[in-house]
Amino acid sequence: MIARIFAAQNSNKYNLRTTNSKERILKLEKLKKEIKSQEDSIYKALSKDLRKSYFEAALTEIYFVYGEIDHAIKNLSAWMRPKSAARFLPNILAKNKLYYEPKGSTLIIAPWNYPFQLVMGPLVSAIAAGNTVIVKPSEFSKYTSEVMQQIINNVFNENEVACVLGDVEVSTELLGLPFDHIFFTGSTQVGKIVMEAAAKNLTSCTLELGGKSPVVITENADIETAAHKIAWGKLMNAGQTCIAPDYVLIHESQKDSFIGAYKKFTKEMFYNGDNINTAVYGKIINEKNFDRLVDLLNEAVDGGARVDYGGKFQKSDLTFQPTIVTQLNDHHKLSKEEIFGPILPIYTYKTLEEAVTKINNQPKPLAAYFFSQKTKEINYLIKYTSAGGTCVNDVLLHISNPNVPFGGIGPSGMGSSHGVYGFKAFSHERTVMFQSNIHLTKMIYPPYLGKEWLL
Ligand code: NAD
Repeated sequence: MIARIFAAQNSNKYNLRTTNSKERILKLEKLKKEIKSQEDSIYKALSKDLRKSYFEAALTEIYFVYGEIDHAIKNLSAWMRPKSAARFLPNILAKNKLYYEPKGSTLIIAPWNYPFQLVMGPLVSAIAAGNTVIVKPSEFSKYTSEVMQQIINNVFNENEVACVLGDVEVSTELLGLPFDHIFFTGSTQVGKIVMEAAAKNLTSCTLELGGKSPVVITENADIETAAHKIAWGKLMNAGQTCIAPDYVLIHESQKDSFIGAYKKFTKEMFYNGDNINTAVYGKIINEKNFDRLVDLLNEAVDGGARVDYGGKFQKSDLTFQPTIVTQLNDHHKLSKEEIFGPILPIYTYKTLEEAVTKINNQPKPLAAYFFSQKTKEINYLIKYTSAGGTCVNDVLLHISNPNVPFGGIGPSGMGSSHGVYGFKAFSHERTVMFQSNIHLTKMIYPPYLGKEWLL
């Protein structure tokens, strides 16, 4: 089946490349209309897969996608318009333009944590750029994957966009095909497999990967507000967010007040009295990931770390309490692996240099968050660290603006998504030079004798 779809799309890609902005906008409008008509099923599926509340699902998945569609519809004709480039000496009389041509036949592979947004967002960019697309959602968010397949089947012909469901086996089969571009969102480990497969066909890749995103809180930060924001960002989707704050580095003088405020706001946002409020607090996706979190915590505690808050979990409904761990060392897995759950390690430092060294001893993260009221400290942290993106005095929200690129660096990814950056990821920026009819360049043709003055 996969080979048949790929062949059909591969021959149709030449028809799609000539589509204009009006035709592509029509497709995006149709997609939005179909999503609207299936909203109920999407909310239900997200609730079954991850226990996402209506509000969180709306905010981080469905309205996010509407935002991407509306932004693309509004800007597509400007994005597609060839851009003029300045002249340069050897082609001083020529006109230089950049054309945006579709990459061609493309593949989108997505993870389970924001299963709707991370399929539909890239799909919007791929359609806007005029490509054919095969989408492979995650096998772990199966309810959402099934609804998305239905949506895609209702809107598109298979030779234009198709949704293929399946696990690693299906993914591997897809990766063996000579696509023109692969847009992969998932773990760093699988990102390497994707890139290796892509290399065999010299297929270009956008890789949106993971990592350990640090938070630095300086002694000059507003601790209460920082704790509120970090608790929100860490515990959204039960910590299963690629840009969730992974760990906190805090000046030693502020540790206790931060922990106090974090507990207070966690209770306020995610508890009903002493019990987790399951109407707003998500579940861990599956037993495998639940067990992984339990192992991370047990290994730390057995190795001398301390649970300062929470630390309890319930396998029957895959609920893992918001947890704080302190007194960790560099050898604990919690200090080395992406946590991707509601466990927050807290480390203290005496000088900002120490904090910077700790961040730079880890692979470059997808996000870094800095809390301080002193510009000098913020500038220092930005200058001496590296990250895919950064929020100053907030978390997560840099992802919400379609006017800026979203992506990682090195092990946290390559290339960008959202808005025009997503459109560009699925386009080839083709240089076209229109030469003038005045044959000036013959001046640099052989014989060269006596032409040195031109250099
Ligand atoms: P994953 O890498 O295990 O899986 C992602 C996709 O790849 C799935 O569709 C899966 O079926 C497929 N896959 C898994 N193993 C494969 C293999 N060996 N060969 C080919 N395909 C394979 O990731 P996940 O567990 O679904 O998601 C969590 C990870 O994704 C975290 O690391 C998180 O940080 C990252 N993530 C990144 C972003 C981002 O925008 N940068 C967003 C969300 C999640």
